[in-house]
Amino acid sequence: MAVPQRRTSKTRKRMRRTHFKLNAKGLVVCKHCGEMIRSHVVCPHCGYYDGKPVNAKKEAKQVVAENKKAAKKKEKKAKEESK
Ligand SMILES: [Zn+2]
Repeated sequence: MAVPQRRTSKTRKRMRRTHFKLNAKGLVVCKHCGEMIRSHVVCPHCGYYDGKPVNAKKEAKQVVAENKKAAKKKEKKAKEESK
């Protein structure tokens, strides 16, 4: 069995271990909000994937509802003004 001839010094060990480091792989910038996100995953910050809304359906529905309310108010105002 191979046996080390001499003990590895603290310095040698530490110099070897300078290369032991983690790097964040697979991180990309979200096209929609600019946050750093994992690639091929829906953005947890804005709910967009590939520039399209995926988990943002609630927000889109709310916007549509608000637009409808605004349109109704405008119609009422127009009727009142015509009278
Ligand atoms: Zn995003």
